[in-house]
Amino acid sequence: MSETIERIKCLIIGSGPAGYTAAIYAARADLKPVLYTGMEPGGQLTTTTEVDNFPGYPEGIDGPTMMVQLQQQAERFGTQVRIGMVTNVEFSDEVGGIHKVTVDNSTKIEAETVIISTGATAKYLGIPSEQKLRGGGVSACAVCDGFFYKNQDVAIVGAGDTAAEEATYLANICRKVTMLVRKDYMKASKAMQHRVNNTKNLEVLYNTEVDEVLGDTVVEGLRMVNNQTGKKEEIAITGLFIAIGHKPNTEIFKGQLDMDDTGYIITKGKSTKTNKPGVFASGDVQDKEYRQAVTAAGTGCMAALDAERYLATIETEVTA
Ligand SMILES: Cc1cc2nc3c(=O)[nH]c(=O)nc-3n(C[C@H](O)[C@H](O)[C@H](O)COP(=O)(O)OP(=O)(O)OC[C@H]3O[C@@H](n4cnc5c(N)ncnc54)[C@H](O)[C@@H]3O)c2cc1C
Repeated sequence: MSETIERIKCLIIGSGPAGYTAAIYAARADLKPVLYTGMEPGGQLTTTTEVDNFPGYPEGIDGPTMMVQLQQQAERFGTQVRIGMVTNVEFSDEVGGIHKVTVDNSTKIEAETVIISTGATAKYLGIPSEQKLRGGGVSACAVCDGFFYKNQDVAIVGAGDTAAEEATYLANICRKVTMLVRKDYMKASKAMQHRVNNTKNLEVLYNTEVDEVLGDTVVEGLRMVNNQTGKKEEIAITGLFIAIGHKPNTEIFKGQLDMDDTGYIITKGKSTKTNKPGVFASGDVQDKEYRQAVTAAGTGCMAALDAERYLATIETEVTA
């Protein structure tokens, strides 16, 4: 007996702000979306306590609550939210073709359109004291959390363009920023280095790494080590920002979708279209520039509209 494979009009992969916003729009357009949450239901915002910059929450909101509300909004219009991890995809090259998707290595699904919202994971140093104080003063997002450290002393780890950008961003808000660079040079562009070096309250320490983040429940200080001399030094800080890069969650799409050299999905022009017809990408998985909840939500909306228009075009061609 041949197995019956479920056919879905609009499959959404990922349950962050991009995925749920795509679901709200797709459900209201009657695309009957099915959304798979992945290993982190609610996405990156479930790892933060305070979201102060998402429009519509004048008092701010904690990340997990905001994501539950987004899920409820998506479900209100009929989105089916399912726990599960997409483990394999076979995207069609044909306009109107059917995309084959496997969930949890077992369940097969066929989808007319797919919206990828699998996000990007911030890299951390991986040392125990850093992991213990994540959300207690250790953050991977200066633009998100810098404001909480207004007029305080903070440190940032990293040496690339993003680290340099975030260090100068923090220097505008905080009293003093100490930037730890592992090598004896910065990877950031000359222009960014110039900005860093010309920022008065920003001190760069080369050949310097984190030895331990100090504090029991919140960050109180940092023990640094010079990797050339072995000399250790402690400074008092209230916030530690890790800016050593992000890894886009795109492993399963490799070889099928166009990506840049760091694995972010490339979308066409101002749209969310990928190189495969009927496959769209939204949120951090296709955006290494802004990486904010509101921009992820914005592109989630775009992806649902792009999917709806794609399906409408196909139906018009079939009936013409
Ligand atoms: C500590 C921290 C604090 C932050 N604070 C703020 C803030 O205050 N304001 C702000 O605007 N932004 C903040 N951000 C950034 C914000 O969280 C992201 O920009 C936003 O969550 C990106 O949304 P997304 O939907 O693209 O992806 P994500 O939120 O990363 O969600 C990705 C989703 O995809 C799922 N997934 C991945 N792979 C698969 C798969 N194979 N199958 C199924 N599902 C899969 C995951 O389970 C997850 O649900 C913060 C980020 C961090 C790390």
